[in-house]
Amino acid sequence: GAGPGDPDLLTLRAQQLLQQADVVLYDRLVSDAVLARVRREATRVYVGKESGRHRITQERIHTLLLEYAGRGLRVARLKGGDPFIFARGGEEIAVLAAAGIPVTVVPGITAALGAAASAGLPLTQRGVAQSVTFVTAMGEGAETLDWRALAAPLQTVVFYMGVAQLPRIVERLQAHGAPSERPAAIVEHATLPAQRLIGGTLSQIVARARAAGIGAPALLIVGEVASRARVGDNVTQVWGHNR
Ligand code: SAH
Repeated sequence: GAGPGDPDLLTLRAQQLLQQADVVLYDRLVSDAVLARVRREATRVYVGKESGRHRITQERIHTLLLEYAGRGLRVARLKGGDPFIFARGGEEIAVLAAAGIPVTVVPGITAALGAAASAGLPLTQRGVAQSVTFVTAMGEGAETLDWRALAAPLQTVVFYMGVAQLPRIVERLQAHGAPSERPAAIVEHATLPAQRLIGGTLSQIVARARAAGIGAPALLIVGEVASRARVGDNVTQVWGHNR
């Protein structure tokens, strides 16, 4: 797990292993600042899937992992955030396990936790949120989500990979009972110098995100705690009226 972007949010173990790696296979969400912590002599292999021009398949990543590890090299598979949160870490481990290749999993700070910390969002604030849910509304999976449960009060819901889906997410939450005044926040490039924070109610957030030109990577955080968002240094805040 490479964490959300700020290299100081790597775990000590991740940093140590990056210093020992012969090969590093990294995703698009791994920041340059994190890559700078990789051993200088290590081979860096970009395996981001969303690169526009060429698309690398999950199978190709499996093949590369098997090839490098099969040569006896120490391979670091570097993923943004945590490798077990919307990151296909389980699939890659299964492939390696089947080939008898030992694997160590190093957790990372997932984007939701990085964003919560740097935007001042206490995800389970007492009396306001009894639970927090990490969810992705991407693709056909969105159909099977329990939207009524996600629209319920007294919780915080964090949507990953939601930027393109933003209008549909908000529409569905409202269709399933979420009031239009429910606070929402969007954190783009969380923990990085370019971090931006957008806040508003469910009825405002889509237009504000559009006006600000919010793009990936960004998280949508829905629930009362979103109204407590605050910004620190080197963070741009785009906020309408204060609630
Ligand atoms: N394994 C990663 C998530 C991968 S899914 C983790 O644990 O964080 C990719 C999605 O994560 C992005 O579309 C975005 O919604 C979110 N994300 C990752 N890094 C982010 C960041 N620095 N700021 C905001 N969102 C981020």
